Amino acid sequence: MDPHSYARPEEAAATHLDLDIHVDMKQHRIRGTATYNLKRQGGDSVIFDTDGLAIDKVTLGDGTPAAFTLSAKDSILGQALRVALPQGADKVAITYSTGAAAKALQWLAPEQTADKKFPFLFTQGEAILTRTWIPVQDSPGIRITYNARVTVPKELMAVMSATNPQERSTDGTYTFKMDKPIPPYLIALAVGDIHFKATGKRTGVYAERSMVDTAAWELADMEKMVEAAEALYGPYRWGRYDVIILPPSFPFGGMENPCLTFATPTIIAGDRSLTSLIAHELAHSWSGNLVTNATWDDFWLNEGFTVYFEHRITEALYGKDYNDMTSLLGYQDLLGTMAEIDSGKHAEDTALRLKLAGRNPDDGMTDVAYEKGYAFLRVIESKVGRAKFDAFLRGYFEHFSFRGITTDTFKTYISKELLVPEHVALNMDEWIEKPGLPANLVVPGSGKFKQVEGEIAHWAQGTPAKSLATAGWSTFEWMHFLRHLPSGLQKAQMDQLDAAFRFTASGNSEVLAAWLEQCIKNDYEAAYPKLEEFLTTVGRRKFLVPLYAGLMSTPKGRALAMQIYAKARGNYHSVSVNTVDQLLAWKENKPPVAF
Ligand SMILES: [Zn+2]
Repeated sequence: MDPHSYARPEEAAATHLDLDIHVDMKQHRIRGTATYNLKRQGGDSVIFDTDGLAIDKVTLGDGTPAAFTLSAKDSILGQALRVALPQGADKVAITYSTGAAAKALQWLAPEQTADKKFPFLFTQGEAILTRTWIPVQDSPGIRITYNARVTVPKELMAVMSATNPQERSTDGTYTFKMDKPIPPYLIALAVGDIHFKATGKRTGVYAERSMVDTAAWELADMEKMVEAAEALYGPYRWGRYDVIILPPSFPFGGMENPCLTFATPTIIAGDRSLTSLIAHELAHSWSGNLVTNATWDDFWLNEGFTVYFEHRITEALYGKDYNDMTSLLGYQDLLGTMAEIDSGKHAEDTALRLKLAGRNPDDGMTDVAYEKGYAFLRVIESKVGRAKFDAFLRGYFEHFSFRGITTDTFKTYISKELLVPEHVALNMDEWIEKPGLPANLVVPGSGKFKQVEGEIAHWAQGTPAKSLATAGWSTFEWMHFLRHLPSGLQKAQMDQLDAAFRFTASGNSEVLAAWLEQCIKNDYEAAYPKLEEFLTTVGRRKFLVPLYAGLMSTPKGRALAMQIYAKARGNYHSVSVNTVDQLLAWKENKPPVAF
């Protein structure tokens, strides 16, 4: 059972959704009807998850009104919508509208977009936010197909995690079809002045007008990535693979909405260096979207496998050096996250299998699922050899396709299909059930990073920054360099680095964010205007957390954090707001800023 859903699919499970909605960009409201086909196996009702929705009416398939009740509101789960079902009823239609603070939705004013001319809306469903814009059985263990009819202002275009238009309709009406069963957190919608450009036969990019050519150039390798992924683990099952570049307030790097990855513009670096994020989201088309964690306690099944797969795609395209560097950066992130978790209230969260009942499942979305999950799979690969592990993974994706599975199901399956036949002894429970990092971890190494460390040592010994051997360094070498600068740098040293390498002016978000962390650590005031600009523009949580956390470690930084956040908060999506509110112990007295 999923502790984060009220649904009881064993009695009545939704199998298909017909969604008919109108998007009101002025009132910031979605209203319409969600009609479900049900598979019933007993009981006299069906239960949906809702959070902040106004339910206008519920009818059965034949149009007769159905009795319904809403439970008391739980601050994490929202409300259960229970619809009474006469014998034989197998369809319900729920007419509803969204509330003012629907957490999945971010409504952007024109000035928050790249082109500053039209408003924009995007949704973010993972983990349990789809219920804030559609009444739904919101558990990742449940799968539905969907059709949608969406009306928007006719100067805008709508796209979804489904078959998508490539051109404007004349009247603002769009229809969508997702004929593969997907978990509800993958239902997604974006509305804006969106344009399309193809990057290959079955791949392309959506973005605002001024971004679409730049984005298509940056993501030129998408078609090759799909081919590399298929060569590894079998056919891509979703038809097209497109990416939409969203405005900068998008809280994640990317979200793997099927057929259409939602992505942050911070991966547009101008040199194609940050596109491993697309390899990650594409890999989710197998791990996550095809084989899905049945509950959020099993989140590592989505993310650990995806990080492994992502590395295999980028290794096939860009080689081993690239992969060694990104693996080592990920390992550094993991160590940082584990230390933070260890010093907090939930030290048990460094186990792969989580116990999130009673908590917001978003609390479990840390580097542990991604990077410890990846490290575990690398251990298995090293024990059985790559060829056998690849064969196992191909079988795994095929066997569990279009299903949600638990960690227990995975354990049973890998024992039977791989570990027992190969006579492999593996400390699986230590990896999955226990906190911390087991001793048989394979620590990644990188020759390129050794060279970077050598240059840092030269600088520390007095070689001027501009004389260091940095020619040809990629984003990753710069990140390693910035993460490993000596501590306690003086203003003159920071000036020298910035003059030599122009970090404050960098258009590469990863390099800039790593530099800004150093600026906070060393109280380098010259970069604070840039820090404020970055934090008030970008809403990607991965960048926000270390920057705000860094500021919070001194009284001066704390005051600056509060001042910047007061301006920036209205520009962030609810998942970033939720995290930063906690980090800053923020008390919001005023209603959210309305644009
Ligand atoms: Zn992911």
